[in-house]
Amino acid sequence: MKVAKEQGEVYADVVIIADGANSLLAERAKLRSKFRLKDMGLGIKEVIKLPAHEIEQRFQLSRSEGAAYTFVGDGTQGLMGGCFLYTNKESLSVGLIVNLESLKKAKLHPFTLLDHFEKHPAVAPLLSGGTLKEYSAHLIPEGGYDMIQLYSNGILLVGDAAGLTMNRGLILRGMDFAIASGIAAAKTVKKAKESHDFSENSLSFYKQLLEQSFVLQDLKRFRHLSRLLQSERIYKEYPVWFCRTARSLFTVDANPSEGAFKVLSREKPQNLNYMKIASDILRGVKNL
Ligand SMILES: Cc1cc2nc3c(=O)[nH]c(=O)nc-3n(C[C@H](O)[C@H](O)[C@H](O)COP(=O)(O)OP(=O)(O)OC[C@H]3O[C@@H](n4cnc5c(N)ncnc54)[C@H](O)[C@@H]3O)c2cc1C
Repeated sequence: MKVAKEQGEVYADVVIIADGANSLLAERAKLRSKFRLKDMGLGIKEVIKLPAHEIEQRFQLSRSEGAAYTFVGDGTQGLMGGCFLYTNKESLSVGLIVNLESLKKAKLHPFTLLDHFEKHPAVAPLLSGGTLKEYSAHLIPEGGYDMIQLYSNGILLVGDAAGLTMNRGLILRGMDFAIASGIAAAKTVKKAKESHDFSENSLSFYKQLLEQSFVLQDLKRFRHLSRLLQSERIYKEYPVWFCRTARSLFTVDANPSEGAFKVLSREKPQNLNYMKIASDILRGVKNL
């Protein structure tokens, strides 16, 4: 392998590609074709500065505690994705992750979505008076297990470049996979150096290591989850349904009260039928 630098060319027996989700190096090495929009999420995040005592008061925290909230539904205006808000010592991180295909179809800008989320009555008071310190955006591979590419002759891919991320709905994992795959790649290179063999066959040891670790075991275990999470119902109909049901159940007025199941059935959006609901529950139980 060769890397061209201003000072000249650098040669290596093996290269570990770690350039993140939009890995141009993996693309150039023909290990990956251009990504499909449906397999990629876009995360945008703001860091908002606030005094520590304000954060503790607003989130009801003691000095050693933190809080993390996740949101689904209105925050992304029903698009596939979710929003987050978490505390740091003297700032808040607020943002959202949205699927690129979903975003393109809706013809919406990510910053419009974030603006909408930040104005939500449950969120705006928590951010009020803060100063914007940072604004960032980052791609996130969402294709799951079937999108993973790990090695070729003289090449190993780690972290996001290999597609090692997992969206489990409420949490996103990628940092732990990036660290573990980096360690496995280093062990593989050490072994390859000892035998002076950097062929694809020799580097397949990397896959063996990942298969023995939580990395490929977890990604394989939840491989069908991304299909469930691609259902638009999770971001549109279900949040609307549950919010309407909760509002009815917690409203006391002069009308006779109904049981919870009757309210659920009455508040169910028209386009949700029981077959779809049953199939989503089954898929959820099997894959979550
Ligand atoms: C909004 C958001 C929230 C997240 N939340 C979580 C979470 O709660 N938990 C979790 O585990 N994971 C989370 N992740 C995922 C996690 O951040 C990534 O999986 C992880 O950072 C991947 O690490 P990486 O080193 O593979 O890639 P990156 O962190 O993307 O690092 C790649 C690096 O390569 C550099 N680079 C790119 N091209 C070149 C080049 N040609 N030459 C030199 N350098 C180059 C880039 O500048 C970058 O510094 C989140 C991601 C986002 C976007």
